[in-house]
Amino acid sequence: IGASVAGLGELYGKVQSILGATEHIREVLDETPEPTHLAPTVGLVPAQISGDIRYEHVAFHYPTRPDIAVLQDIDFHIKPGEKIALVGPSGAGKSTIASLLMQFYQLSGGRILVDGHDVRDYDLTALRRHIGIVPQETLLFGGTIRENIAYGKPTATDDEIMAAARQANAWQFISSFPEGLDAVVGDRGIKLSGGQRQRVAIARAILKNPAILILDEATSALDSESEKLVQGALDELLQHRTSIIIAHRLSTIRKVDKILVIDGGRIVEAGSHDELSEREGGLYANLLRLQFELS
Ligand code: ATP
Repeated sequence: IGASVAGLGELYGKVQSILGATEHIREVLDETPEPTHLAPTVGLVPAQISGDIRYEHVAFHYPTRPDIAVLQDIDFHIKPGEKIALVGPSGAGKSTIASLLMQFYQLSGGRILVDGHDVRDYDLTALRRHIGIVPQETLLFGGTIRENIAYGKPTATDDEIMAAARQANAWQFISSFPEGLDAVVGDRGIKLSGGQRQRVAIARAILKNPAILILDEATSALDSESEKLVQGALDELLQHRTSIIIAHRLSTIRKVDKILVIDGGRIVEAGSHDELSEREGGLYANLLRLQFELS
């Protein structure tokens, strides 16, 4: 009995780790649910987009919670190459705003346009090809560094992968591994630090070269050296792309073209850092003060 109980425990452990791994892969591969509306099977398949984004009076509730209006009257325009930061308290709706661009869910009202076309008129895969995401916490899958970087562009050559890794400030640590790009990451391979994982994710996005980037900034603290390298890599990545940044850092917020302050699912303030920080009693000015007091 002892042996079989031990065996069962082992089996349970294996099932858990397989389930865990699947979860990992799903997150990494952005294998997200198809939208619930009836997407046209044939839609626009643009070879290039300029990255003009318009949210027009967007309203949204999650399908599981029809009683809660998560977003109301979200209305903004980002011109090609511009960067906006979404800031606001936890649960305000920042991630939801960004995720709707990827059409993970159907809107309850309003519409979202990319390059003047309703996102619903695009072929979903074709549109997502032009959007890159750098998540808050990067999970790599258990393959080589090469596979992890080339995920967004499987046809990439080693030269392209190396160039992306260099721009992402990742080449130095990758080249320090005896196997270089062939080094295996994950449970059975090399453990990368949080900052190194982020730089691999940034290299992946640089290689994919999307016109639109969604960046969910990490809230977890990195050591200052890693922080500098990640910030430098992000500066490189954000250049010449329309970017929506879910921002937690002052250093990033200062660099964007426009800040949207989100509270309770609405845009409560919009403007530049200088404009908003001087607004007496404004939410942004208060958030800034809080951040200074905490740091
Ligand atoms: P944070 O800064 O903590 O990430 P956020 O501003 O990004 O917060 P969202 O994650 O967009 O906020 O969440 C907005 C609201 O929607 C919250 O009330 C949250 O509980 C709810 N919500 C988020 N995801 C789902 C979901 N999948 N199903 C139902 N409700 C959700």
